[in-house]
Amino acid sequence: MEVLVCGGAGYIGSHAVAALLEQGHSVIVFDSLEKGKRAAVLPPAQLVVGDLRSPAEIGKVFADHKIDAVLHFAAYSLVGQSVETPAEYYRNNVTGTQNLLDAMRDAGVLRIVFSSTAAVYGEPEHIPITEEQKTEPTSPYGESKLAVEKMLKWYDRAYGIKYIALRYFNVAGAHPGGKIGEDHNPETHLIPIVLGAALGKTDGIKIFGGDYDTKDGSCVRDYIHVMDLIDAHILALNKLHEAGAASQTYNLGYGRGFSNLEIVQAAKKITEVDIKVEMAPRRPGDPSVLIASPEKAIRELGFSPRYDSLEAIISSAWKFHKTHPNGLEGNP
Ligand code: UDP
Repeated sequence: MEVLVCGGAGYIGSHAVAALLEQGHSVIVFDSLEKGKRAAVLPPAQLVVGDLRSPAEIGKVFADHKIDAVLHFAAYSLVGQSVETPAEYYRNNVTGTQNLLDAMRDAGVLRIVFSSTAAVYGEPEHIPITEEQKTEPTSPYGESKLAVEKMLKWYDRAYGIKYIALRYFNVAGAHPGGKIGEDHNPETHLIPIVLGAALGKTDGIKIFGGDYDTKDGSCVRDYIHVMDLIDAHILALNKLHEAGAASQTYNLGYGRGFSNLEIVQAAKKITEVDIKVEMAPRRPGDPSVLIASPEKAIRELGFSPRYDSLEAIISSAWKFHKTHPNGLEGNP
């Protein structure tokens, strides 16, 4: 099928493009390249540079191509930054997605897989987190994703657009081929920061908070390998093509957590570098423990992880970082 991947030049989107190509699909990437990298778009995917905030630019894609389904990764995704610039988060994540959905409706394209987030839950009531738990985001980022989930519900009801919203926990790791991986600027995520320190890009790392009520005092997160995450997108895409497919929402994680200090320990072992660690104050807005219940995705989507080990996640990321110390488009 012909799949439109919005945000296909970004970290997660580029892995989706790789998987779709491997499965023989034809792929159009729509990306503003504000955060995405041209080098992340593997051939023969076709890149259209454009911005979802422009109805005309996204509308043209549907006029020029016969799209069967959409995977939508394009968004701003930093919790802290969203608190500083909520207007930009609403405009890009919510208005941008509305422009996409309007263009889909006008073109009669009725299937979308949407990247949502564990941030829709805010501070969880119970661990592991099931999809029925209350959604009370603690940031404009989480709010913007929840607003889109709600928009999807009403666009389904009125216009028949079927969606699967996937609430990601902590995505990490890289394609085993080593050609694409996580490359943000600035980088705020723990695993690439730890690996950057192992490469000598920084002096060491800071762990935000050692006084949480967890096994070792540092925060606990459910890290999911980007390859497994993308497998779930392909399963979702296929499910949307089944007769009588209904819209759905699923958590994507493994149902277990690692503390920040455990991540550093594992990274030290894999990189064989003695990464310097400094304990620092808590980062505002960080819940202490986020662990998914992936049961619904396992049961209904057939989610079946293949890379479910911290070793697999960190070593694949390490392979990418070692070979791309200055990122995807940096000079070696
Ligand atoms: N973290 C940290 N030092 C860093 C970056 C992140 O201690 O330099 C912590 C962060 O406070 C959180 C965990 O690592 O407890 C995961 O953060 P990340 O930003 O990777 O993902 P998030 O859980 O915010 O989506």
